Amino acid sequence: MTKVYSFPRGGISLEDPAVPAKGPSVAAYLPGLSVVSLIQHSGARAYPVVSIGDVVREGMLIARGQGRGSANIHAAVPGRVIRMVSWKGPGSRTNDALVIRMEGSFEKLGKREEIFPWESLTCFELQRIISEYGIVEMEGSGYPVSDTLSSLRNSPEPYTLVVRCVFDDPWLAADRLLCRERVKAVAEGAFIMGRAGRVSRIIFALSHGERDLGGALLAETGGWDIPSSLVLTGSRYPQRNRRELELVLRRYAKKESFEPGSLLVLGPATLAAVHDAVKLKKPILDRYVAVGGSAVKTPQVMKVRIGTRIGEIFAECGGFISKPKRIASGSPLQGRPVADLDEPIVKTSYAVFAMLESRMGKFQDRPQNCISCGECRAVCPVGLDPEELYKKALLRGPPAGAGVSREGDADGQGAGCHGCGCCDVVCPSRLSLSAHILGDSGNQAGARRA
Ligand code: SF4
Ligand code: SF4
Repeated sequence: MTKVYSFPRGGISLEDPAVPAKGPSVAAYLPGLSVVSLIQHSGARAYPVVSIGDVVREGMLIARGQGRGSANIHAAVPGRVIRMVSWKGPGSRTNDALVIRMEGSFEKLGKREEIFPWESLTCFELQRIISEYGIVEMEGSGYPVSDTLSSLRNSPEPYTLVVRCVFDDPWLAADRLLCRERVKAVAEGAFIMGRAGRVSRIIFALSHGERDLGGALLAETGGWDIPSSLVLTGSRYPQRNRRELELVLRRYAKKESFEPGSLLVLGPATLAAVHDAVKLKKPILDRYVAVGGSAVKTPQVMKVRIGTRIGEIFAECGGFISKPKRIASGSPLQGRPVADLDEPIVKTSYAVFAMLESRMGKFQDRPQNCISCGECRAVCPVGLDPEELYKKALLRGPPAGAGVSREGDADGQGAGCHGCGCCDVVCPSRLSLSAHILGDSGNQAGARRA
């Protein structure tokens, strides 16, 4: 029997009946008006290369990234740029977007895909293509992949590429489905990244419940000149977190007697996008999004064009049963509140959800006093005492506000907390423990309350 590697302590098992049921994915309607944000990830914005009134083609470059942390943006539908809009995003950051009214014909949708040979391309050429097509990490922060490749090239030590198919949170339903529906693209994307980054090894890390998927991924690796293997991990949250994943992979490497060097961790949506950029010369035009929550009539995983407004996505799922109390993008544990249903889907939107107040779990009331039950200590994967850190944080004063750093307190009191939110979930007094520990009263804590 294959060994399953899990992180040693803490963590929680997450279930949510309001998550979309398993597959197949549903193609969302093409947006009549698409709102293409000039910030599609957590890095720097891109700058328009088109003007109001211009006609754009499907897949055409409409905004160019400038410098490190910034990525190119392309039109997801053909049409005419009719205006520029702005709104306040997380951390009071101003978001600008080009609004495109769909018109004209599609050049890629419904057409036979042309495959471009890539095997003889150098790693520099692969990186240039990945940069040109604006590929960013589509899970998590959204860092531009070409910047990651630059860093790898300057590093003297070997790298292992980790394909993270660890589904410890039911709200990763879109990634899970993409893996199954696009297994070949995910595997080939990993191989392309392996070549582009000159990695010494590729590891497919999969939740143990996805063994069959692991077999399907490994079946695609025949003939590769980069050694590849499969590791089964636990599925307790936060197993996919960088720290917990690294713990189990280093244990695996020790058992198998190899030195993994530094780990480059990428998810399946990113690798499928790398495949599409290099083999199909296609930018990120759409993405898989899990749409659900107790307020949504028909939760489902949808393939959604970038720039589609979130309100339209909910409407396609039958709308709301009743007025939702919370609407957010991402997972209830890692997401951020959505202030306006006209906000668009961006490259990093893996889930959107709307929750009824009556179904927000057992902790609906206002926060109470700590009862020193110890639940938070029992689940902390880092071995911290969240109760103590929370009380120290209260003595220091209120959190600094939305959008501040989540790397720990300036005085080091919260150092080591990586904001997984396990303590928040189990606290019967409904205290915002991680937000106080990290000095961040902002978006993620707000979404977590959903
Ligand atoms: S889980 Fe909440 S109530 Fe229990 S000890 Fe921790 S902070 Fe206090
Ligand atoms: S949020 Fe921080 S303190 Fe709370 S369980 Fe996670 S690592 Fe521990």
